Amino acid sequence: MNFAFRPRAQPYLPIAGSSSVFPVHRIYCVGRNYAAHAIEMGGDPNREEPFFFAKNPDNLIINGADFPYPSRSDDVHHEIELVVGLTRGGRDIPLKNAHECVGFCGVGLDMTRRDLQAECKKHGRPWEIAKAFDHSAPCSELRAIPHPSAGAIWLDVNGERRQTGDLNQMIWKVPEIVAYLSGLFELFPGDLIMTGTPSGVGPVKRGDGLHGHIDGVGDVRTKVV
Ligand code: MN
Repeated sequence: MNFAFRPRAQPYLPIAGSSSVFPVHRIYCVGRNYAAHAIEMGGDPNREEPFFFAKNPDNLIINGADFPYPSRSDDVHHEIELVVGLTRGGRDIPLKNAHECVGFCGVGLDMTRRDLQAECKKHGRPWEIAKAFDHSAPCSELRAIPHPSAGAIWLDVNGERRQTGDLNQMIWKVPEIVAYLSGLFELFPGDLIMTGTPSGVGPVKRGDGLHGHIDGVGDVRTKVV
């Protein structure tokens, strides 16, 4: 096959302790997956059907690179999230097999133009401009570990704790997310899932240093420029 022009490079994430990298296919994101965050966003923390949006694979920021403050927003928020990387996919994956699809875990930031998201919500519009903007997904290297179901998750801005939670507070657990998502989309090795954020989301400004951590998974760092 002859491409009419040179395709863009394959997006990827580094893998801890490996010279191989994880080629990223899609990035799915879960909305409102911690009760305290659902409440702070004006939602209902009771267990409704999970909902999803997506980021673009080339939105990833890797290796601690800077986060450029995006255009057209004055209210960009941080959301610290457990990221899982699939090494198996499929359609209609049974819940009991879903955990076998997860081969890697990492720590990601679902950076959000909150002001534009509020406009989208108000007018019933899609969320791409709020969620899937360039550089909107800083992420740590991935580790080849089973997904943890408990453990501290937190985010510091300039050394000050802003978000805290525990993975055991997730409303929809990782296998449930994989199984549900596979009923909507065929999943593939290389898909990433950002699994939602605990409470404490808030704005960032240029010059801020962000440091997110999940016990047993790793750390993500970026500077807002
Ligand atoms: Mn999020």
